[in-house]
Amino acid sequence: MEFEAVIGLEVHAQLLTETKIFCGCSTKFGNKPNSNVCPVCLGHPGVLPVLNKKVVEYAAMMGLATNCTINEKNVFARKNYFYPDLPKGYQTSQFELPICEHGYIEIETNEVKKKIGITRIHMEEDAGKSIHDQGYDTLVDVNRCGVPLIEIVSEPDISSGEEAYQYLTNLKQIITYLGICDGNMEEGSLRCDANISIRPKGETKLGTRTEVKNMNSFRNVQKAIDYEIDRQISLVEDGGKVVQQTLLWNADQNKATAMRGKEEAHDYRYFPCPDLMPVFVSAEWKEEIKKQIPELPKSRKTRFIEELKLPEYDAEVLTQQKEIADYFEEVYLECKDAKLSSNWVMGDVLKIINERKISAKDFPISANNLGKLINLIKSNKISSQIAKDVFPIMLQDDKDPNIIVEEKNLLQITDTSAIEAVIDDVLNSNPKQVEEFKAGKEKVIGFLVGQVMQRTKGKANPKMVNELLRKKLS
Ligand SMILES: [Zn+2]
Repeated sequence: MEFEAVIGLEVHAQLLTETKIFCGCSTKFGNKPNSNVCPVCLGHPGVLPVLNKKVVEYAAMMGLATNCTINEKNVFARKNYFYPDLPKGYQTSQFELPICEHGYIEIETNEVKKKIGITRIHMEEDAGKSIHDQGYDTLVDVNRCGVPLIEIVSEPDISSGEEAYQYLTNLKQIITYLGICDGNMEEGSLRCDANISIRPKGETKLGTRTEVKNMNSFRNVQKAIDYEIDRQISLVEDGGKVVQQTLLWNADQNKATAMRGKEEAHDYRYFPCPDLMPVFVSAEWKEEIKKQIPELPKSRKTRFIEELKLPEYDAEVLTQQKEIADYFEEVYLECKDAKLSSNWVMGDVLKIINERKISAKDFPISANNLGKLINLIKSNKISSQIAKDVFPIMLQDDKDPNIIVEEKNLLQITDTSAIEAVIDDVLNSNPKQVEEFKAGKEKVIGFLVGQVMQRTKGKANPKMVNELLRKKLS
């Protein structure tokens, strides 16, 4: 019997607001434990929450960028449960009426191109953190209580670990282009849980699902899903039955193990939060939010291909991160040569960014100056080889390359008589090679060009050297 997997993902994204969702406390990460707190986020009796407008805007931006309907009226609800890191005894979330519904994200793998439906996107607050490994039984840090999140729930449209990986990659790209979340999964600002079930191919009824948690990278999500699909299929093939349970992914051992303790179906007794008014997103407000949405990766890629005539590969690499695409466009604006700009950004610039693990924003050479360096090559003032020597100097000191080449005397020699003088010199001191060339050994020309370049410290225009050499030798 052949099986197919049915996978849905729940992604929590921490929003990049300055303050929490219902109070003015800072959302800053890494502050002293229990210092970003006030009576509101600690859930003291009698306090009232006030909704952070930015959270609504960010959630709606994500909805609009993923083809969702924005519900004009949406409602906050209380999700009731007890846990030490949740002092209020409930999490303020959205249940029946979330802010966004019925969207999709397109994905493409080697095998398929398809739309993954988005069931809903809702706003909610984060809980605190229990810390278990500091020599005490458990410590609680409530700084994170009330930090704004959106939860993005997909339809069970995903069929493999690879598709899940692509979905998450595209989702992260959108969310970081919007600038509403830093997308860092290792630091927990993006978290993902997967619901996985299998069924015989052709069957429409859903099988019993398991939930896999604790994956801290997109590759681990992919691995955990593929592991769990295999596990369920072997189980059923051996006559067993899938049991509904929560599994934790162990990246070191490459396997998922069941959470300890009996899993019971939770009854959160959701009810509309009596302290918060329903949220109304008017048509006018929606239009204002729409205007804040920058050009998204997909349309930017298409524009790079169609307007700037870049190869698809270049457009794909350059648009993966907004900062890189922005940097590239600034370089292009300065030198007006898309392909040369792309070569430099994809090559030398990305190499340094990856080596130093920095963001494009922190890249030491300004886009403006890199554009000027390209202009120097285009106008034959320096050779590409010399440009490769100027680049590291610019890395240390973001100076105008025009000044650097003047100071270091690197301008290309394009003066025919100056080059001819060097050529004469080279020919006189290498009579053997000259003989060989005249006897038909074409390859020797490379050696002679090399000698001229060496004597001019790479500053002679290589094309001119080649032409003049051949003229003299013929
Ligand atoms: Zn607070």
